[in-house]
Amino acid sequence: MGHSATATAVITGAGSERGIGRRTAHRLAEAGFAIAVLDLDEAAAKTTADIVAREHGVPTLGVTADVTDADSVDRAVETVETSELPTTTALVNNAGITRPTPFLDIERAEWDAVFEVNVTGTYLVTRRVLPGLIERGYGRIVNLSSVSGERGGGVFGGTHYSAAKAAVLGLTRALAREVGEHGIVVNSVAPGLIDTDITGGLLSGERKQQLVSGIPVGRNGDTDDVAGMITFLAGPDVGYITGATFDVNGGSHIH
Ligand code: NAD
Repeated sequence: MGHSATATAVITGAGSERGIGRRTAHRLAEAGFAIAVLDLDEAAAKTTADIVAREHGVPTLGVTADVTDADSVDRAVETVETSELPTTTALVNNAGITRPTPFLDIERAEWDAVFEVNVTGTYLVTRRVLPGLIERGYGRIVNLSSVSGERGGGVFGGTHYSAAKAAVLGLTRALAREVGEHGIVVNSVAPGLIDTDITGGLLSGERKQQLVSGIPVGRNGDTDDVAGMITFLAGPDVGYITGATFDVNGGSHIH
């Protein structure tokens, strides 16, 4: 295929056609990374991998993985590591789910599911990928938080989502302290409302308009806005940036 990729970026949840993860796969490929997509939806993971390979001429791999299941994660990362892709230097923990449920209506199972994907998923994938980064003395980890985790919702997700995305910020900061000496930086990206399918069509026109009216930049974000930041944080220039949170929200909370 005549590519020159020398490092692989692993991106979870990059199957979704209109999602942040797939857009990030394109941007990271443009930046020269080989791409490994891990997604619950195997067909979607493979589709992303195929499209990115075709468009950017880098090696790619689409693997099924449920980030909430340690065995599934371990198998998927093993598949990446034993493939022809170059060694992994960047991990983007992007898989996430949200629900708009009011606090008293949240069932225990839904609370757990939101934590399992957003928090435990980040833990399970990171703990599997990290030893390789430590061994090589270089790594970039990017975790997807949300404006909801910083402000306590106000966009779409419920209390469980805000709590889970705040947990991602804590995990990021604490891990950044532990692994900095190994040449590994760990940062969070906190998007505001981005036009993807994560809301399952449940965010209607009027509410969307209302949300946009509070954003200084005057529009919702698009996936490229977030993918650009993630790509920067996965790159070579962030060796002295770690444990930080990067807002990509059009100025929806300036502080
Ligand atoms: P999306 O719904 O378009 O894509 C999410 C992807 O994650 C899907 O491909 C899905 O199959 C995958 N996934 C879900 N559960 C999984 C599991 N258990 N294992 C593996 N993969 C799984 O979502 P998106 O809007 O692109 O969001 C990406 C990330 O950005 C999420 O972490 C989300 O919480 C965060 N985020 C999104 C927004 C927004 O407005 N869209 C705002 C802030 C933060």
